[in-house]
Amino acid sequence: MTQNKRLVACPTCKKLVEFSTLNAYRPFCSKRCEMIDLGAWANEDYAIPAAEKDNDLPDELTQ
Ligand SMILES: [Zn+2]
Repeated sequence: MTQNKRLVACPTCKKLVEFSTLNAYRPFCSKRCEMIDLGAWANEDYAIPAAEKDNDLPDELTQ
């Protein structure tokens, strides 16, 4: 029969890793790659310019 192993490519470094419950960071190959991917997300959030709506203050602040 076929082996019960499934290989996936790590989204960060493209290394083939075993997709199993033994790999806590699946589909990443390591915690480092997981953090890099999460970091990329955070950076995208950060990249959104702080285009303020300070010309539209809430009423509580304009008393
Ligand atoms: Zn990786």
